[in-house]
Amino acid sequence: RTEIHVIGGGLAGSEAAFQLAERGHRVVLHEMRGAPGNQGTPAHRTESLAELVCSNTFKSTDATNAHGLLKAEMRALGSVILECADAARIPAGTALAVDRDIFSAAVQARILAHPNITVVRDEITALPEVGIIATGPLTSDGLAASIASRLGAKSLAFYDAIAPVISSESIDTSIAFRAARWGKETMAEAGPEGAYLNCPMTKEEYDAFIAAMVEADLYHSHEFEDIPYFEGCMPVEEMARRGAETLRHGPMRPVGLRDPRSGKRPWAVLQLRQEDRAGRMWNLVGCQTRMRYPEQTKVFRLVPGLGNAEFLRFGSIHRNSYLNAPQALSPHLSLKDSETTLFAGQITGVEGYTESTATGIMAGINLDRLLRGERPVLPPPTTMLGALYRHLREADPAHFQPMNANFGLLEELADPPRDKALKRERYAERALQELASWRQEYGVVSLSPSGASV
Ligand code: FAD
Repeated sequence: RTEIHVIGGGLAGSEAAFQLAERGHRVVLHEMRGAPGNQGTPAHRTESLAELVCSNTFKSTDATNAHGLLKAEMRALGSVILECADAARIPAGTALAVDRDIFSAAVQARILAHPNITVVRDEITALPEVGIIATGPLTSDGLAASIASRLGAKSLAFYDAIAPVISSESIDTSIAFRAARWGKETMAEAGPEGAYLNCPMTKEEYDAFIAAMVEADLYHSHEFEDIPYFEGCMPVEEMARRGAETLRHGPMRPVGLRDPRSGKRPWAVLQLRQEDRAGRMWNLVGCQTRMRYPEQTKVFRLVPGLGNAEFLRFGSIHRNSYLNAPQALSPHLSLKDSETTLFAGQITGVEGYTESTATGIMAGINLDRLLRGERPVLPPPTTMLGALYRHLREADPAHFQPMNANFGLLEELADPPRDKALKRERYAERALQELASWRQEYGVVSLSPSGASV
């Protein structure tokens, strides 16, 4: 039997190791925390496997919520991380919140007790030929250097500077108009309608927007996340603080644009860039931010055309090692020149505990298939899991940023109801049905709560 090396005993690595071990493979799980002389990461505090570095929640359990749907799909496939989360659950309404110590201890106990898994405390700095790299947002420098040299330095980012993404249906297109500056920029790709949606502002509207940003409450990050701001990563509120005109002469400059309603050039313009092929998700250009989530809602809804904006992803700025998956990886998230060297977790460009764990499940399923001589498989984009993978494969590499689960990623319904709650119920129903058919078609077994494959 081939020995499989899983690197990183976090959420994705622990899940992937368990999935493989349950399918009969011998797995060595390498975790650097706890190795003699190793400093660990700047965020982890313990030596436990699957430590939760910040909040203690896996978010909603309701399948009509994007995170809830993803968890429902993960449960259909079987997830040791979710089982341990259930065992460590503390009251938090419909959210799956856990006692973090009980949770990590439970994961560690399940992993250590597994006869097919050996845990080795060491730092790995080379890519395995047969294995899964799940070293997370704070991948050690030595391994990051090997990844960058194999995939090209531009394929691996060390910070994310994320602008909010909103749903297309929540944009008031009687105000926001389609056009690219000077009618050029990426018109060739976007066709005659224009590459961007533009939210035009009068001087009064712009001044109120700037004032609200300057006053907004910010997310106070960990010391190690004090990122030296470089071009392209400067928070929008920081630009606002540097003077009222900064944004108007920067990403919000109105030059080359005319508001078709007035025929005039607006005072300033917030541009929205299409984030996905279907045009259901729109990115607020230049608005990477450290404002707290409720403040982002309040501030960006001041922009004309965004009064009812529905946020599919909030903005953030973090230390985060992640790959430009659409450019650098295969659809099942392996090296393009070695399909048995897979990546899983946050390093693949997904964002969040649940999303990271979910890619650990898929990496385990696909490496098992490859070792049995079968082709890797991915669920359809009507499921949240399949939609996340589609994003990692099809997003524009020039603008690729980490992504969390959200309904904007899913394939649209053939006949979407107008009522939002009903629409989400339909998404959930369809996703779970299609996941079941997909499992049947490809013989993807699920790990039952006891751990036995069913
Ligand atoms: P991790 O859980 O970080 O696991 C990676 C493991 O690999 C670590 O144990 C690390 O020690 C080990 N490792 C690294 N390099 C090596 C090496 N070379 N050899 C061996 N082992 C190695 N998401 C949320 O949903 N909610 C939050 O509140 C949240 N807060 C976050 C706060 C911070 C400070 C950070 C950095 C991220 C946060 N995230 C949060 C994002 C993300 O979901 C988590 O980081 C999540 O733990 C990612 O899972 P993972 O398995 O990919 O990585």
